[in-house]
Amino acid sequence: MTELAAPLANAAPPDRAGGGLAGRTAIVLGLVVYVAALLGAWRLLTAILPDQLHLTLLHHAFTLKEVHRRIVSDGVIFLLLPTVLWIEWLFVGWSGSSVRQLLFARRASNKTDLAIFLMGQGHLTDLAGRLLTLGASMLSGAWIHDRLSAAAGFPLTLVPASMPLSLQVAAYFGVYSFFDYWTHRLDHSRYFWPLHRYHHSADDFCVVTATRQHPAAFTGIFFVNIPMAILGASAAAMIYVNVLVVLLGFLIHSRIDTNFGWIGRWIIQSPNHHRLHHVLDISEQPAGHFAMAPIWDHLFGTWRGEADQTLVIGVDTQYRHGFWVVPDLARDYWHFWKGWFQRKPV
Ligand SMILES: [Zn+2]
Ligand SMILES: [Zn+2]
Repeated sequence: MTELAAPLANAAPPDRAGGGLAGRTAIVLGLVVYVAALLGAWRLLTAILPDQLHLTLLHHAFTLKEVHRRIVSDGVIFLLLPTVLWIEWLFVGWSGSSVRQLLFARRASNKTDLAIFLMGQGHLTDLAGRLLTLGASMLSGAWIHDRLSAAAGFPLTLVPASMPLSLQVAAYFGVYSFFDYWTHRLDHSRYFWPLHRYHHSADDFCVVTATRQHPAAFTGIFFVNIPMAILGASAAAMIYVNVLVVLLGFLIHSRIDTNFGWIGRWIIQSPNHHRLHHVLDISEQPAGHFAMAPIWDHLFGTWRGEADQTLVIGVDTQYRHGFWVVPDLARDYWHFWKGWFQRKPV
């Protein structure tokens, strides 16, 4: 058993975890059947559908390109989210699980998480993001890469697509997490905090809290995916790094009481360390643990040690929460712009 698995295995006493061994076995079997069914459906769809679809709508001809890639990128959420929900259920048991909370015991904060998640699935957050960031979210890293490479006279590529995919993914995850770390530090500066505060306003974790982000989060757009593209990441490497990041995002917003052992100290952030990052008094005193890859916290002095799931999280600003998310989003967007033009932070 690895050190990653060991603390996970210790994360929940057996009596809480899905009704003992039989319960756990049922949960694992359910997950296996679900993943197999999804993979089967994906194979079937890619076998039936061509990669380019020609459609005629209202006498206009359309061509839908990269159909297979779209199936993966839109379908991946159906794989990643249930997988993490299942894993969490396995370790914390039904009574403490996010699934139960989201289905049967929703609190106002959980409703906000769910609303933002559904808006993201419907690509509404994307559209709002383009509008609220004044089009900046449409900036293309690949376009910058091509221009810079043309100017330099050689391809500015960190790891070429000819190298093994695992090496590309590891290297570009390093790049991603480095820029994500500094973006996140910037998010906690007085200028960007009103937008990032929306994420921290959750007073309860329920896995989908990961997607609770303000659509106008400028910093993520500029600094996170673009550097990978500028450094020549192949489309496959970018997809896998993003899958990894989405998976990790869900996992660190779960209720599994684990610090991942040495892996959580150096390689990938654990749910407990991320909970410490969300600790209630953060708007006055950022607690640290900004990095998805904790090595950056160690290198740049923001490592704050260990934590557990009993920590109270949230912010000291009032939020309405609930399904109707517009008032909170609008207030935070207003605070963001106001913050640039006044001396005192909002
Ligand atoms: Zn933060
Ligand atoms: Zn978070």
